[in-house]
Amino acid sequence: MKKVYFGSNLKMYKNIEDTVKYLRELTELTADISREEIELFIIPSYTTLDRATTSVDRNLVRLGAQNMCWEEQGQFTGEISPLMLQEMGLDLVMIGHSERRHVFGETDEEENRKVKCGLEHGFTTLLCIGETAEEKKYDLGPEVLRTQIKIGFDGVDASETGKIWVAYEPVWSIGVNGTPATADYAERMHAEIKKCLIELFGRAGEEIPVLYGGSVNPGNAEELIVQPSVDGLFVGRSAWEADKFNDLIRMAKKKAETARD
Ligand code: PEP
Repeated sequence: MKKVYFGSNLKMYKNIEDTVKYLRELTELTADISREEIELFIIPSYTTLDRATTSVDRNLVRLGAQNMCWEEQGQFTGEISPLMLQEMGLDLVMIGHSERRHVFGETDEEENRKVKCGLEHGFTTLLCIGETAEEKKYDLGPEVLRTQIKIGFDGVDASETGKIWVAYEPVWSIGVNGTPATADYAERMHAEIKKCLIELFGRAGEEIPVLYGGSVNPGNAEELIVQPSVDGLFVGRSAWEADKFNDLIRMAKKKAETARD
């Protein structure tokens, strides 16, 4: 069976103690699930990473950073370099989360510099993409996603696809004011994303996991995960209590298994 991806970005929530507690609970609760069958990853805030990396069984949960500078060092006040993340033993970085793009104004070109830097430093690099509500209104989702993919992965070689993950997170679906995408809509966009990745990378593009994120919850996780082009779920609020995330993972995994049998 194909691995099912489950991850969460903790955003600017949870201090060190809460993060470690959460990670310990989550790893204990999910310990019996084979990591051949699921990839479980959590992306906490920078200040928690050092403690988090030494406090949990990293065979059970992969830890990542929420952002990264495209340079190793220099006059980049407030930024974190790939070397600093490597120093903590991290090998996963998220680039271009919707809030980076829309709250902090990052551009596709900047995401591309970060993606290339992440890959050059051996990180599994998770690029987040998604259209705004305005773009969706004119059914521009496919065009926007293609642009974000083509610029985001510009200059990346097909040999590097083993370290690329993509998260489709429509801007209008994320966070407290978000509306979840319907399963049909999500599948349509995921299929476009996969088509574009294959255009860019050839057969190697087929192997890139594409995760759905945006108001995933216990009520929609099953219908989303059974979509043929959805390889995993990138969950926010519904993942921030370990027992609830554990329930969601088990429910979605079971559904994915029955659908793929
Ligand atoms: C997110 O912000 O990446 C996200 C998926 O959040 P939520 O599930 O809370 O909408």
